[in-house]
Amino acid sequence: MPRLSIQVRGVVQGVGFRPFVFRIAHVHAVTGWVRNRPDGVEIEIQGPQSSSDGFLIALERERPTPARIEHVAVSEIPEVDGESRFEIVASGASSETRPSVPADLAICPDCAREMDTPGERRYRYPFTNCTYCGPRYSIIEGLPYDRPKTSMKGFPLCPDCLKEYTNPLDRRFHAQPVACPTCGPHLRLVGNNGAEISTRDAALEGAVAALQRGDVLALKGLGGFQLLVDATSQEAIEKLRKRKRREEKPFAVMFPSMEQLEGDCVVSEEEARILASPEAPILLLQRRPGAGVHEAVAPRNPRLGAFLPYAPLHRLLLKEANRPLICTSGNLSEEPMAIEDADAFERLGEIADLFLIHDRPVLRPVDDSVMRVDEHGPSILRRARGFAPLAHPVAVDAPPVLALGAHQKNTIALLHRGQAVVSQHLGDLHSLQGTRLLERTVRDLLAFFDVKPQILACDLHPDYASTRLAETLAAQWQVPLVKVQHHHAHVAAVMAELGLDVPVLGLTWDGSGFGTDGTVWGGEALVVDARGFRRTGHLRTFPLPGGERAVKESRRSASGLLWELFHSLEVIEARYTPSERPLLQSMLERGLNTPRTSSMGRLFDAVSALTGIRTMRGFEGQAAMELEFAAEGVTDSGAYPWDFLEEECLVADPASMIRAILEDLRSGLSARIIANRFHGALADLAVAWASRAQIENVVLCGGCFQNALLARLVRERLVAAGFRVHLPISFPVNDGAISLGQAWVAAKQAELTA
Ligand code: ZN
Ligand code: ZN
Ligand code: FE
Repeated sequence: MPRLSIQVRGVVQGVGFRPFVFRIAHVHAVTGWVRNRPDGVEIEIQGPQSSSDGFLIALERERPTPARIEHVAVSEIPEVDGESRFEIVASGASSETRPSVPADLAICPDCAREMDTPGERRYRYPFTNCTYCGPRYSIIEGLPYDRPKTSMKGFPLCPDCLKEYTNPLDRRFHAQPVACPTCGPHLRLVGNNGAEISTRDAALEGAVAALQRGDVLALKGLGGFQLLVDATSQEAIEKLRKRKRREEKPFAVMFPSMEQLEGDCVVSEEEARILASPEAPILLLQRRPGAGVHEAVAPRNPRLGAFLPYAPLHRLLLKEANRPLICTSGNLSEEPMAIEDADAFERLGEIADLFLIHDRPVLRPVDDSVMRVDEHGPSILRRARGFAPLAHPVAVDAPPVLALGAHQKNTIALLHRGQAVVSQHLGDLHSLQGTRLLERTVRDLLAFFDVKPQILACDLHPDYASTRLAETLAAQWQVPLVKVQHHHAHVAAVMAELGLDVPVLGLTWDGSGFGTDGTVWGGEALVVDARGFRRTGHLRTFPLPGGERAVKESRRSASGLLWELFHSLEVIEARYTPSERPLLQSMLERGLNTPRTSSMGRLFDAVSALTGIRTMRGFEGQAAMELEFAAEGVTDSGAYPWDFLEEECLVADPASMIRAILEDLRSGLSARIIANRFHGALADLAVAWASRAQIENVVLCGGCFQNALLARLVRERLVAAGFRVHLPISFPVNDGAISLGQAWVAAKQAELTA
């Protein structure tokens, strides 16, 4: 009777993998054991050849959906005498053990079936879950992941649930959030004055009726409060926009079914797989014009963020409302999502007509993740539910590092024992709530992983809330603080994620980041290796009249650029009122409140304003986004010229380009062709900078590369010129990955000086 040792690597912890192994061992009648290992799961089995074969096939084929097997190694080992059963062995608190915090998972097909079957114990029960699905990170208080350390501790199991929970052959064996209508949480429908309207099924029915008549519903979802409204009703959408003070920014839409989703969006096979995956992210899809979802959901936007119901409660609501619903974070513009009932009533009371709540506490906000698929496969734009805080292997040998990230789309990162744990998307740190969430998340991650950081890392910007917190903590803990330049961190994040350990050229293009020379950087070419970075190219700097205000008004970027290049504001004057003009002029003349920038984001804004596509900005990135949409599908392959100034860097001067754009505008060329030639020029710029640096591996990062057209053109041109091009996959290309990059830079420094 052969005995096999089986090492499984991948995402196999916290996803019901060991109970699954136990079950197939039972089915195939093998003895032995299974246990968690730092990097996966270790199994030993013993039995007749046919049984072992059956076990191995089942291991591969029947694995739980959320599990991802990266590698299976099987070797034959000596037989063991007197073994009579198969066991789940405790992991043992070996010093190598790297705990992992499981992520929240969408409802699995088996639970969905139970919910839909009349007569089942959990028929229409909105908190149905099992070992393969349901809440995790959003309800965990501490590790090890056990019911008493979750927000389900206040719900003692009824005899039926206890039977399932303790039976190794049951799908709910050790499913910590397991619940049923007898022992679990229940719904309540409450008015925005706090008065209870109804409970249980009646609450659900009341909520459905409210959505159908166009009311705004605040829903206590899986990872916090969400705002829901009928996505087919212009009136309902406008009500939400007005109350949420969100004028044009696109909303994500949840569809009752894949069929309905496909009616509104073009969905490839791969996209369909991602939509239905346990992570169930929002996916940016090509929208079918004139379908069911109203234009006001995402005005003038050819894409739609679409997703499927992932919590049982969403399934019930969507199915019964039987229409696509806007499903957006329950917050005021840039604040974090509300998770507590009282806080939600206070902050969302003016926005929502009704609240559908329940008594299962949400312990931390976990937003919906956002992904997209292009010709090179899927990538993550916002990493939260389903992904955070799963660890990512990073090859670096240094003491524990904690990095606090940037200022917008913030995350924090803990780099320890060869793995990086990056928090969920925390949002912007402008508000007090944002800063509090940052502090809480620091405490959270350190407690989960029981780590005392030996090194702290943060941005170079002196005024970021994250920088200030890092300074405070460094003094408190008496550990060194490494300040990492923003764009250096962008490039380092991609190197950390993809395991690039060669020098790379990072083309890091975004809105802004504090530069080492006191200017605002953002159109950069940096050569990065383990030791640090060297700036080899940047855009010619130009003044931003009004500083921060320029970020909100793209006409100001255009004005600063025109002033820098031609000392004239003539062509942009019409975009200001007569009373605004002298102020603008004197600001530029005297250099008052006009920081200088090499920002690519601001160059996008400037061109967007010059072409008249967008002179003011409604939401972050809107001017640039509309320039991208204008250029999409244009067949003209032209590109505007660049001038280069050879200094210690290759400085790209847009003077000839802007002159050509103004000529094209005068001759009446369409803004779409101009937008397209501008994108073409940026692809040329990438090749010019890469050729000058003469480095084979080129990393593309920074918020500008959320622009799918730009990413495609730059990649194509660089590849055609013989370069190897790298873009992030599992972490956002935007500031959401800054913490990972900071941690990597600090760890590499420590590794080199050790
Ligand atoms: Zn399930
Ligand atoms: Zn029960
Ligand atoms: Fe950035």
